[in-house]
Amino acid sequence: PDFVSLFPFQSLSIPFGMFAFMGGGDEKENLSSISIVINQIINMAIEKLEKLTLLEELKELNISFEAKLQERTKKILDYNKQLKKEIRERKRIEKILLEEKEIAEKSEKMKSSFLSNMSHEIRTPINGILGFSEIIRNEHLLNDEKEKYTNIIKACGKSLLKIVDDAIDLSKIESEQVHLNVEELQITKFMTDLYDFFKNDELFKQKDKLELKLNINISGSSIFKTDKKKLWQILINLIGNAIKYTEEGFVEIGCRIKDGECFNGTNKDLLFFVKDSGIGIPKEMHESIFDRFVKIEHDISKLYGGTGLGLTITKNLVRLLGGEIWLKSEPTNGSEFYFTVPDSVVLTNGLENSISNVELKEKYNWNNKLVLIVEDDEMRYIYLREILKSTKINIVHAINGKQAVDIAFKNSDIDLILMDIKLPEMDGYEATQKIKNFRESVPVIAQTAYAMADDQQKSIQVGCDDYITKPINRYKLLKTMELLMK
Ligand code: ADP
Repeated sequence: PDFVSLFPFQSLSIPFGMFAFMGGGDEKENLSSISIVINQIINMAIEKLEKLTLLEELKELNISFEAKLQERTKKILDYNKQLKKEIRERKRIEKILLEEKEIAEKSEKMKSSFLSNMSHEIRTPINGILGFSEIIRNEHLLNDEKEKYTNIIKACGKSLLKIVDDAIDLSKIESEQVHLNVEELQITKFMTDLYDFFKNDELFKQKDKLELKLNINISGSSIFKTDKKKLWQILINLIGNAIKYTEEGFVEIGCRIKDGECFNGTNKDLLFFVKDSGIGIPKEMHESIFDRFVKIEHDISKLYGGTGLGLTITKNLVRLLGGEIWLKSEPTNGSEFYFTVPDSVVLTNGLENSISNVELKEKYNWNNKLVLIVEDDEMRYIYLREILKSTKINIVHAINGKQAVDIAFKNSDIDLILMDIKLPEMDGYEATQKIKNFRESVPVIAQTAYAMADDQQKSIQVGCDDYITKPINRYKLLKTMELLMK
């Protein structure tokens, strides 16, 4: 053909084209040209078709690939999430482990410092006792010197006893063996007893620039209820510390109704406080001083004794009474310890009779009285006799329960009996019961061992009027005797 032209078109699915030719030659030639063009068109169509199928396949492939990819991505994301969770968990566990390790290391350190501290605290008084008992055997010593050295031995014994008591108390508290024994008390009496106890305390007596103040901001005749022994122990610890860590100035003890001056029937919480003008406590230690074995190295030039258990016991006891304890203090500016005894006020009548700085004179003259001391141990009998010497009281002595009953029976003028509990032949409980059968009015004070609450309870059950714990505190004994012989 003279002219052939091909116009291929493309559509998405159907290939088609248009061609034109202008004929001129012979028919055969024309036909062949047309067939060539048609051939070309068919080839193009086939090619196009193939491409389209391929495209279709590719599309499908793409779709499934994308689905797979999405699935895969989701899985990876999930996995990532899981991994992140696991990493977080791992980090959390690592943190806990690290904290536990630190606690374990800290308590290990505390334990060893406690042991070395304990061993030092125990050795010091033992050495004192051994050393000075050797010295006082020297016959050429003057009386003054003898008294001085005996006082040292006494102080050493006292501090040893405190260490043992603290260790026992803490282990009792921690093994939850401490139970409450609530009773009613008169505020004035309780606080003045405490005040008197410290007025006669050896450490306080040594500090002549230190004043002990009592500040009861509540009616003197108020009655409150709590566990007397535990409250006593809390205050003894806090006041003992205040005296220990204050060289001059004051130590003030007191109590009032919490949040307000007046008892209005609803506010029944008592607030106790122990303030001092001593060396103070840095703010960052306000919480940790209540932890076991924690002691502050206040000043390396003056080493204070102590195991670091007192405040731990104190805090636990306050909690046991249902209260809270806190402090205000700054180094060199003194300390103020406060604690509450909730729901403890039973009766009060306003603010009249507020007491401050009560001083009780301890001077007894019982030369017209007769006491029966029932004690099998010779040393302990001599000790009691010495304690009572200044009162000029007349003494009869029994070495077992049976003898005590006989003597009490024959001497109707006995004014008071000091009864030991563990005795040969007949124990103190039985002897008291027998004596009370024929002389109900004679007051009996049982001497019980420290920390044996059962003994104390039992002694009251069998008829004793009061008890005092061994080792016997001279002041307490005299005070109890005075009350019972009135
Ligand atoms: P310690 O037997 O060592 O006195 P505590 O548990 O009673 O043990 O007291 C812990 C520490 O708190 C003491 O070592 C002392 O550093 C400090 N502390 C306690 N009370 C006072 C106070 N009134 N003034 C200054 N520091 C005190």
